[in-house]
Amino acid sequence: MTQSSFEREARIHFTAEQDLSVDTLAVRAGQNRTAEGEHSDAIFPTSSFVFSSAREAAARFGGDEEGNIYSRFTNPTVQAFEQRIAALEGGERAVATASGMAAILNLGLALLQQGDHVVCSRSVFGSTVSLFNKYFTRAGITTTFVDPVDPAAWEAAVTDNTRMFFMETPSNPLAELSDISAIAEIAHRHDALVVVDNCFLTPALQRPLDFGADVVMHSATKYIDGQGRCVGGVLVGRDKEMEEVFGLVRTGGACMSPFNAWVFLKGLETLPLRMRAHSESALEIARWLQTQPGVRKVYYSGLEDHPQHALACKQQSAFGGVLAFEVEGEREEAWRFIDATELVSITGNLGDVKSTITHPATTTHGRMSVEEREAAGIREGLIRFSVGLESIADLKADLQRGLDALKG
Ligand SMILES: *Cc1c(COP(=O)(O)O)cnc(C)c1O
Repeated sequence: MTQSSFEREARIHFTAEQDLSVDTLAVRAGQNRTAEGEHSDAIFPTSSFVFSSAREAAARFGGDEEGNIYSRFTNPTVQAFEQRIAALEGGERAVATASGMAAILNLGLALLQQGDHVVCSRSVFGSTVSLFNKYFTRAGITTTFVDPVDPAAWEAAVTDNTRMFFMETPSNPLAELSDISAIAEIAHRHDALVVVDNCFLTPALQRPLDFGADVVMHSATKYIDGQGRCVGGVLVGRDKEMEEVFGLVRTGGACMSPFNAWVFLKGLETLPLRMRAHSESALEIARWLQTQPGVRKVYYSGLEDHPQHALACKQQSAFGGVLAFEVEGEREEAWRFIDATELVSITGNLGDVKSTITHPATTTHGRMSVEEREAAGIREGLIRFSVGLESIADLKADLQRGLDALKG
């Protein structure tokens, strides 16, 4: 292993934004090759690191010398994952966390304090709503939930204490979009940070920092892994904010395990390829479902009649792998459709190579009251479908079983 080999890897990291595409960065960015010269990323399953002398130990602990001490602070596999996702999102620095929810919790606790106010889309992940509504409220941080599609609603919710805007676009499961640059302009006029949960599209299809967001958040559990193996999360942003978050993760301990980081590194290598394939299949299935008797409506931003299709084309390079559709009827019909499928998995997860089918009203959105669900448009006939990488013909045949069951 020569020095020049390390320099080659370093160059890939530092020139990232200038001249390499997302496809190349997904495969190449962030590898810290060891003296063994391994081609694939190394995994470092170690809790602590040794020092050559007591003096060196003291220098590391004292912060006078860079280097690893303990894997709650830093771990080379976790750092490789952080560098790769930072390069993909076009951010200065990333902080990996134990889960997507740990990413949001640590972001909030690191950057907000008692008395601060958050404006949040009302169509965000269920646990995100609980986190803001219940736990942040206890810490004296209040949240107003707003219509994600209407920038004026975000502006109207701002108070003197607003410090953060939080959105998820496209939303789950109705594919409502938030105009990132329009909302970021409002937030920045009021000195608030813009955070985008980019779980559904990933940097392969949407890079929120390019549209003015300050922080991107991921549940790596979904498409970044892509094969349903590990739970993890990550935040990407500027050095300034990420240093604060890093300090809290290092102290509070919501860190990512090196094994999971390695799985996510492998997942990133095929991410752009998978996202294109998921999107292509989802678009075809969305168009096909639209023509089927028994289907009342299809929700997917790739459809020309989606009310925000133009915005989708502006801030996304494709439309992602998740769609939703409403069948004629109520809960009974939706359940009958789901139970008639044989190939796809009935599970709440998404972003997997395996297609998954879910009834939101009684699972992911089951804790909302009937009125809340009605207001959010989560009707009893609604079904969410996360399109995997099985053949489109086989998926259509399976969905056809569901359609046939509606007739019977
Ligand atoms: C799953 C998910 C989360 C939470 O991530 P975990 O890894 O399960 O903690 C947050 N946001 C979105 C959009 C998700 O789908």
